[in-house]
Amino acid sequence: MSPAQTIELLRDELNTHNYNYYVLDNATISDFDFDIKLKKLEQLEKESPLLFDANSPTQRVGGTITKNFKTVVHKNRMYSLDNSYSKEDLLDWEKRVEKVLGSTALEFTCELKFDGASINLTYENGQFVKAVTRGDGFQGDEVTNNIKTIRSIPLSIKTSFIHDFEMRGEIILPIVAFKKMNEERLENGEEEYRNPRNTASGSLKLQDSAEVAKRPLDCLLYQVVTSERKYKTHFESLENARQVGFKVPKAIQLVKSIDEVFDFVNYWDAQRHDLPYETDGIVIKVNDLQQQEELGYTAKAPRWAIAYKFKAAQVTTVLNEITYQVGRTGAITPVANLEPVQLAGTTVKRASLHNADQIEKLDIREKDTVFVEKGGEIIPKITAVDFTKRAIDSEPTKYARTCPECATILVRTEGDAKHYCPNEFGCAPQITGRIQHYISRKAMDIDGLGGETVDLLRKEGLIQNYADLYDLTALQVIPLERMAEKSAQNMIAGIEKSKEIPFEKVLFALGIRFVGETVAKKLAKHFKSIDHLMTASFEGLIDVDEIGDRIAQSIIDFSSDLGNIQLINRLKRYGLQLEVSAEILENQTELLKGEVFVVSGVFYQMSRNELKKAIEDNGGKVSTSISKKTNFIIAGENMGPSKLAKAQDLGVEIISEQDFINKIS
Ligand code: AMP
Ligand code: ZN
Repeated sequence: MSPAQTIELLRDELNTHNYNYYVLDNATISDFDFDIKLKKLEQLEKESPLLFDANSPTQRVGGTITKNFKTVVHKNRMYSLDNSYSKEDLLDWEKRVEKVLGSTALEFTCELKFDGASINLTYENGQFVKAVTRGDGFQGDEVTNNIKTIRSIPLSIKTSFIHDFEMRGEIILPIVAFKKMNEERLENGEEEYRNPRNTASGSLKLQDSAEVAKRPLDCLLYQVVTSERKYKTHFESLENARQVGFKVPKAIQLVKSIDEVFDFVNYWDAQRHDLPYETDGIVIKVNDLQQQEELGYTAKAPRWAIAYKFKAAQVTTVLNEITYQVGRTGAITPVANLEPVQLAGTTVKRASLHNADQIEKLDIREKDTVFVEKGGEIIPKITAVDFTKRAIDSEPTKYARTCPECATILVRTEGDAKHYCPNEFGCAPQITGRIQHYISRKAMDIDGLGGETVDLLRKEGLIQNYADLYDLTALQVIPLERMAEKSAQNMIAGIEKSKEIPFEKVLFALGIRFVGETVAKKLAKHFKSIDHLMTASFEGLIDVDEIGDRIAQSIIDFSSDLGNIQLINRLKRYGLQLEVSAEILENQTELLKGEVFVVSGVFYQMSRNELKKAIEDNGGKVSTSISKKTNFIIAGENMGPSKLAKAQDLGVEIISEQDFINKIS
């Protein structure tokens, strides 16, 4: 086979696997084998630069940097949709449509209205050529390189479809992925993203497409735009688009009356909370494309389509007081303390107000009556003030100027939405928060010491930082409230035991801003000791895989602070693991590289944690749930029957503890 043929074959094969996994949700190859094939293709393409193809699967990993996104005029304008909120609205719309068309025998499609960022994908001769955001509807930003990283979007279409067309769709971030991103951000001391929609649309404008590639974005398609008259109806064109590889959600339904539209509305109003992504309504469209053309457009929206918005659960209540919370990193969050109120099955007492801008934007004041809403999302939010109920003598909210805990003047740096208390070492919640983080399960995992005790110890003046923990004696602790002799001893023993915790966890426990669990692991593996890390240069830091400017700068700031240097020196003196142990270095292999394991059941030769560690030390990955990406399940005694069934269903190999030990020895 010539290199050209091999390349062609590999591209086809990888495209098919991508399609199976990302569109059909049905993996047909292990991650490991996929990577091998992709690497091979990369190599071949490098050797034959003439065979470069911008739509090769190798182009999906990103790596291009766009400083300024090019403005592109849309060939076909991207309109908005008119909204409706009741069955009456929809019946009115139906009447208007029937009047224009002079017919009452119409067909409609009902679709979900996906809540993300709209995108227009242009294909010429079956090849993906560009992706443009909606912008103002007339022109948008070209984000082609970023969009290419979304694996469910086909880059070339082989079978017969139409030649030149645009696909319109919505870029979304699935809810689970969004929550996971936020957990990581919290762990890194970063502010949480507000909602999946903004995060999705923000992702499209990231300058580094490799960053976009890391985000689990997806694209759901809902319209084919073309001048070729191959299909007669909207439904038919979408069904065919799905056939040739586009991710067109199956929820689309053909109906003949507004009554049927309402069945669809009622069904999805109840079911939408179980969808993996957010929807804020449904879209009803006239199905016949000829009729669509006849109906045409108003100044801002098609006459042949209308959106129906789901009602978010909403109540009003009184905002009693605005208080301010100080986080472990000093970030201030204003909180609305509400008169308790029932909303969608739960009692709501508090809601975050996020930051000063939010309060100003909604003009929220104490004693106001406010609207509280719970939409598709998890957390209730205040959406507006009922101004008709505002007292005459009400005054605009004056945002806190000083820290509610330590009275230090708050600072707000350019470009930051949040105010911060800069009194890092003297502000109680920051001190307590840092120590609480230090002892937490994922960090030093100190038995016998809880968050409240930390606060008590600090109040009693016994600890000011995590190093102080190691100077505590049982005699000092016993006199404290609710502290029996036994629990005091347990606590001291737990602290003592933490001296054995491996370096990567200690590094995470230190609470360096932006250094979360994963980053700490990476840094530990690379630098091997705190000394190497703290003396590393900026360049040395950003050289490490996945360490960017921001993390590097934060480490430099931490390392050059005298207080921190003293803390670290003390930890060294107490005998904490501030370097990777020789034993670990010796035990690390790449035997399990690329393999994903799930551990389930009770084990005898090793503890569950030892098993997990052994997997990671040998280059494997541990996952908590079984999916198509899982390569092996290590089954102990009493493995859950549902897990077993799922494993068998997905054809994941089930191995015993002994099999695993054989594998790595
Ligand atoms: P709006 O932004 O409220 O004017 O609504 C119009 C937007 O809804 C379009 O720009 C699309 O991005 C989005 N949308 C989501 N799902 C659909 C769908 N199934 N059909 C048409 N538009 C949709
Ligand atoms: Zn403070």
